[in-house]
Amino acid sequence: MENQGIKKDYSCEYFNPEVETLSIEAIRELQLKRLKETVAHCMNSPFYKKRFEEAGLSVDDIKTLDDIRKIPFTTKADLRDTYPFGIASVPLEKCTRLHSSSGTTGNPTVILHTDKDIDEWANQVARNLWMVGLRPTDIFQNSSGYGMFTGGLGFQFGAEKMGMLTVPAAAGNSLRQIKFIKDFGTTAIHAVPSYLTRLKEVMDQEGVDPRKDTKLKVFAIGAEPHSEEQRKRIENMFGVKAYNSFGMSEMCGPGVGFECKEQQGLHFWEDYYIVEIVDPETLEPVPDGEIGELVLTSIRREAMPLLRYRTRDLTRVLGHTCACGRNHVRIDRMKGRSDDMMVLKGVNIFPIQIEKILMQYPELASNYLITLTTDADNDNMTVEVELAEPLAEENHQKLLKAVTRALKDEILLTPIVKLVQKGTLPVSEGKAVRVVDKRTVYN
Ligand code: ADP
Ligand code: ZN
Repeated sequence: MENQGIKKDYSCEYFNPEVETLSIEAIRELQLKRLKETVAHCMNSPFYKKRFEEAGLSVDDIKTLDDIRKIPFTTKADLRDTYPFGIASVPLEKCTRLHSSSGTTGNPTVILHTDKDIDEWANQVARNLWMVGLRPTDIFQNSSGYGMFTGGLGFQFGAEKMGMLTVPAAAGNSLRQIKFIKDFGTTAIHAVPSYLTRLKEVMDQEGVDPRKDTKLKVFAIGAEPHSEEQRKRIENMFGVKAYNSFGMSEMCGPGVGFECKEQQGLHFWEDYYIVEIVDPETLEPVPDGEIGELVLTSIRREAMPLLRYRTRDLTRVLGHTCACGRNHVRIDRMKGRSDDMMVLKGVNIFPIQIEKILMQYPELASNYLITLTTDADNDNMTVEVELAEPLAEENHQKLLKAVTRALKDEILLTPIVKLVQKGTLPVSEGKAVRVVDKRTVYN
């Protein structure tokens, strides 16, 4: 069924034609087969063996896809409690790599890979890059952190498997990035979206026009939440199509979900994952179209498959078919992570709601920072955003008012808005830090 070799027929739209174009029924059949195999394999993991025993569940209880709901959820806490290797379903000697997520509190989470896992992961990424029109004739620059962060090696192996000439530029050093783009004729870049806006600022300073002076045509952007407005802004800045890429280290890394050329949500690869969206409170499934927590089961991994992993990412199902001919489920861009949600004066706010408004003003640059403080027992939100160009006082005041108003309409609270000069706010090389919570009493 798999077609993992480098394809020679460049006119074919699919990297794995047979799997990518399966009917919905065929996908479900394959998923059930792989779910059963995965559950059986997980019994090699002392962690899952115990979980199943505690739940009074045996491998034979999984007869239909709906039976997945009998399986207990796995959480980030489980990964931390079993740190570093406690969930593995294979002996360590079969593993050839580990990655780890940042882990802001306590133990980081460690994810093990066998050779086969790495190969399948590369296949997923290769499939994505092919899907958006890249071919072995393209030159791919990976401007993402390497090392423990999966965006580096994940895209590296995927782009190589697809057969592109790859430039492992890694993150940062924009002047060097621009030199590579020009000298090597880079046609595609993978980066976090916040970095691309920074790169454009440096191009402007250097007098480089991406439309005239480069061959760029495709961006893969992901690893952090970003709004549709941010995407459009990046596309317009460079004259380059930007495709949303979703991944998480627990599931492998990048390659889990990716937009096709239709840009109507991300195709999550259902031959690799079973996708559920559940109500984060009741943990019951929500109907298609409704926002809930994304729960993923990896059904193709060897070293460390995770069953019903609660991602904490909030999103919804957009559909099961697509004009591109793929019937792998289409998932909406992430609204944010449940732990990114700010509760201010009883109102729930996601950073992306603020971003969506800010990005609508061409007078504003792309870097912004939300700070939450407690002042005289009152919780306040300050939104600092950089100006694209310095403004005359009168225009500054006008813009300030308009932005404050628009933010209030969106989040139903009036934040303190500060329009600051370009280059004032911190820039991070990896995922952007958008919120600083300095409140003394948390809601
Ligand atoms: P961590 O952020 O915990 O260090 P990962 O690098 O594995 O670990 O990050 C995975 C998380 O990054 C996802 O759960 C999701 O919250 C976020 N993420 C990844 N890709 C996207 C995307 N395209 N849009 C929004 N959020 C994303
Ligand atoms: Zn599609």
